[in-house]
Amino acid sequence: MEHPYVFNIQKFSIHDGDGIRTSIFFKGCPLSCLWCHNPESQRRPKELMVFHDRCTLCGECVKRCPAQAISLTQDKVVLDRDACTACGVCTDWCLNNAREIAGREYTVQELVKEAEKDRMFYESSGGGITLSGGEVMIQDMDFIEKLCRILHDKGYSVNIDTCGYAPYGNFKRILPFVDTFLYDIKAMDPEIHKHFMGVDNALILENLKKLNEDGASISIRIPTIDGVNADEAFMNQVIDFLRENNIRVKQVNLLPYHNTGNHKYGKLDRACDEENILKTPDKERMELFKNMFMQHGFNHTKIGG
Ligand code: SF4
Ligand code: SF4
Repeated sequence: MEHPYVFNIQKFSIHDGDGIRTSIFFKGCPLSCLWCHNPESQRRPKELMVFHDRCTLCGECVKRCPAQAISLTQDKVVLDRDACTACGVCTDWCLNNAREIAGREYTVQELVKEAEKDRMFYESSGGGITLSGGEVMIQDMDFIEKLCRILHDKGYSVNIDTCGYAPYGNFKRILPFVDTFLYDIKAMDPEIHKHFMGVDNALILENLKKLNEDGASISIRIPTIDGVNADEAFMNQVIDFLRENNIRVKQVNLLPYHNTGNHKYGKLDRACDEENILKTPDKERMELFKNMFMQHGFNHTKIGG
């Protein structure tokens, strides 16, 4: 069984489903959303992040790197990402914590153990564990199924936060062990979807219909972004789709875009393309969208997670 890479385990999460939850973020995603605020989640292998603002140019990492992947200029350490094996040696030698490996392999048992540490909080709040990403549903499904089954059999609520872009067979495998799917809808027009997310949305919408037919509990999550989908026409399209297909929706979450992850792109030597294009919708507009859903019978519609 392949061990996926996890890039974050967030405790006391209150935006990823009911109650207090532990959210486990897997690395690797089939989409490439322009606004992704966790760029370290997109690629599957582990990778090195460099926090240039903490670097004092001491040169220790240059000396220690076994792959000779680092060089020093007058004002910066430069990483040759083709040469870097993400071995992590330099992170041990940097006294300023300016280097960090994103992604660590876990076994199923290690994740279960980690999740169980907060069982008291799940019990008192009606919470549980949320598997997120990146994208959970493109990981090794033997691993994910086993993890979900063990957590479910131990009595924990398991949520899956998904973009929906994966073979339906993967969803089917874990269906019996999942409490709720937190299902993203980002664009309804296939071309717009392709433009902003890198793939069209046919599979995503098809999977949503199948999950509904198979009786899954589904919450719809809509990252709401000025310049992409923060308009009434899009919200009406979503409402029509949900109604026409009789999707039983536990909750609709309208998630206003924020750009808090932009700074991470530089740490991966990547450009953040969205900086000047995308904006956060104002509160009035968010309220308007919320009311649109409520008026069409989606009584559990919320701004935020
Ligand atoms: S060891 Fe850390 S502080 Fe020193 S040059 Fe490398 S990244 Fe910068
Ligand atoms: S992670 Fe390893 S290979 Fe990459 S820069 Fe650091 S020491 Fe070199």
